[in-house]
Amino acid sequence: MAIAPTKPRKSFSQSVNLMVERAMQHVNIPEGLKQQIIACNNVIEVQFPIVMDDGSVRTIKGWRAVHSDHRSPAKGGIRYAANVNQDEVIALASLMTYKCAIVNVPFGGSKGGVKIDPRDFSESELERITRRYAYELILKGYISSGGNVPAPDMGTGQREMSWISDVYRSMHPDDINHFACVTGKPVANGGIQGRVEATGRGVQYALQEFFRHPRDMEMAGLSGSLEGKRIVVQGLGNVGFHAAKFLQEEDGAHIICIIERDGAIIDENGLNVQSVRDYMDEYGGIQGYPEGKYVADGIKCLELDCDILIPAALESQITVDNAERIQARLIIEAANGPITFDADEILRQRGIVIIPDAYANAGGVTVSYFEWLKNLSHVRFGRMTRRLDEYRMKQIIDAMELLTGKQLPDSVKKNLTLPTEELVMVRSGLEDTMRLAYQEISQAFHEQPNIHDFRTACFYISIKKIAQTYLDMGIWP
Ligand code: GLU
Repeated sequence: MAIAPTKPRKSFSQSVNLMVERAMQHVNIPEGLKQQIIACNNVIEVQFPIVMDDGSVRTIKGWRAVHSDHRSPAKGGIRYAANVNQDEVIALASLMTYKCAIVNVPFGGSKGGVKIDPRDFSESELERITRRYAYELILKGYISSGGNVPAPDMGTGQREMSWISDVYRSMHPDDINHFACVTGKPVANGGIQGRVEATGRGVQYALQEFFRHPRDMEMAGLSGSLEGKRIVVQGLGNVGFHAAKFLQEEDGAHIICIIERDGAIIDENGLNVQSVRDYMDEYGGIQGYPEGKYVADGIKCLELDCDILIPAALESQITVDNAERIQARLIIEAANGPITFDADEILRQRGIVIIPDAYANAGGVTVSYFEWLKNLSHVRFGRMTRRLDEYRMKQIIDAMELLTGKQLPDSVKKNLTLPTEELVMVRSGLEDTMRLAYQEISQAFHEQPNIHDFRTACFYISIKKIAQTYLDMGIWP
């Protein structure tokens, strides 16, 4: 008996493009421009040798894709992962394009990847890999403050960004804007307060805004506030950890399950996110965590009954294989591409509300934008105005007390004199950005008769903005 060939699965970039094409049907722009917006403008593959600590030589492969440079610089992180490949980097670069557009960050979209599992390398080996990869990209014009600005992504962080910035500075010693060639740097080395937790913070702000929209909550069958909501989080890396921690500690949500590589921990009463993370840092995984119930088949827990599911790990976690069994009322995509195109169709038909990645995890690039601005202006936010604001506010409080003959309560005074320092300003800028973008998406969703989900609404708005940039610029003959 002949075996029926299995239907080939769509690649990550095909999946993203199908979602974008679905939204493009609603945008009235020339067909050729649609093709241009979808296409990845260029991608470079680099291979280079590095000397390992034991003296042996390893060949390392990496990529950097520029999906769109309709705005400069092109922006996006660098991922270190064992199975990263060109298609994934292109897909992630394209998501950066739409992401920047939806949150009004004036950048194009890019992404890089190095095919290594960072856990297999020593710190000095990682430094050699990072410096050499950066050198290759800089040499070929793929890193510069005005052209292409990387940032952290999975497997990279402040340390790698600092190495990249150092390589760039050594290759361009006269460039006074050298710090702006990469974001996500340590604060003491050109970074900005609040960047590390920015993506997780952005997820929190997105959810808070969702809960200010009764019509949207109703669609998901949710009511009230985030307080007491039962949340499942997949991935306790930088994004998942911060999102879950803030939602638990500041919004009173219950994190009833945390899914990690080595299994999941369930506790209906709510897990202490910080304590799970501390345990993971000490023991390398969640197995053996003393509270809650351990489940070895972690991915199965995506199917748990909950109010909100936060996939914050990898792409393609919700597929045709499990989409039918997902029970969450609301999914917020903290990771890039956690739901495949086909799974998205199933979830849509089942009425599950999805806050899409291109918007939900845009907090990182938003604060990267602030860091880039800080680097170009060569001054910390608030440096010129902080004392002046403090002085003015004190004068206002004194005047009010003098006129009324009454003392303002200390709690009110404390809020009024909140210093306009960098972290406060970053948070304010991020919150405003996330709230405004949500409002745009929700409005498009409710006003466009043929748009029936937030993802399509989000891409619809992004595409319109990108198209407008092209049309205003004119296309060079
Ligand atoms: N890697 C992050 C993302 O996927 C941040 C990108 C950036 O800050 O440029 O959005």
